[in-house]
Amino acid sequence: MSNRTIEVTEALWEYLVRETVREPGVLARLRQETHELPTAQMQIAPEQGAFMTLLVELVGARRALEIGVYTGYSSLCVALAMPADGRLVACDISEAWTQVARRYWVEAGVSDKIDLRLAPALTTLDQLIGEGATGTFDFAFIDADKGNYLAYYERCMTLVRSGGLIAADNALWNGSVADPAKNDDNTVAIRGFNARVRSDPRVTMSLVPIGDGLLLARKR
Ligand code: SAH
Ligand code: CA
Repeated sequence: MSNRTIEVTEALWEYLVRETVREPGVLARLRQETHELPTAQMQIAPEQGAFMTLLVELVGARRALEIGVYTGYSSLCVALAMPADGRLVACDISEAWTQVARRYWVEAGVSDKIDLRLAPALTTLDQLIGEGATGTFDFAFIDADKGNYLAYYERCMTLVRSGGLIAADNALWNGSVADPAKNDDNTVAIRGFNARVRSDPRVTMSLVPIGDGLLLARKR
């Protein structure tokens, strides 16, 4: 028993993943393929994928945004969790990584649900706002360059409807946020982001210590 979030040991994490995550085969294969890349640690954790699947269902999302696709694990979780008429606008700048994502979207039968925009995410988000998409999204996942998190958050606050959910990844930044000796640009950006969302009266928020920390903000 504990009245604080318990420490996730290696054994506990293995239990969590092996015994409690219902990972579809296509996601397991994508995780295996991504594991071979030197950048594999950028992929969200499987237990976080399961949690995001649940969030998307709870919000009843039919229109979702993703900022930072990489090889597609989180986008696949979101797309699989939405109904057949669901649409995900997925933003990234990497042709190579999103080629992997596209293969798995096809394999999972969700490629028709996903609109990949290969451009700096701020450009795509401003384009959506310019096209009148304000208030039309139910769910947004922020997981790209950390220095732009606040800018992404503000665009998402515009694009997401009242009652919609914004989730931002890496909110604990491998523990650096709590280490006063760590003051590199990314750590400072994430600390600032967490503080900003906490003091934002427009949302109800909670930082969930799953994966590398998932900051949830529900637009009031
Ligand atoms: N959500 C992914 C991991 C994302 S990693 C998963 O679950 O696997 C971060 C991604 O952000 C990388 O693919 C990188 O290409 C992308 N990125 C970095 N800067 C960006 C920018 N300015 N605009 C859009 N995407 C960006
Ligand atoms: Ca991440």
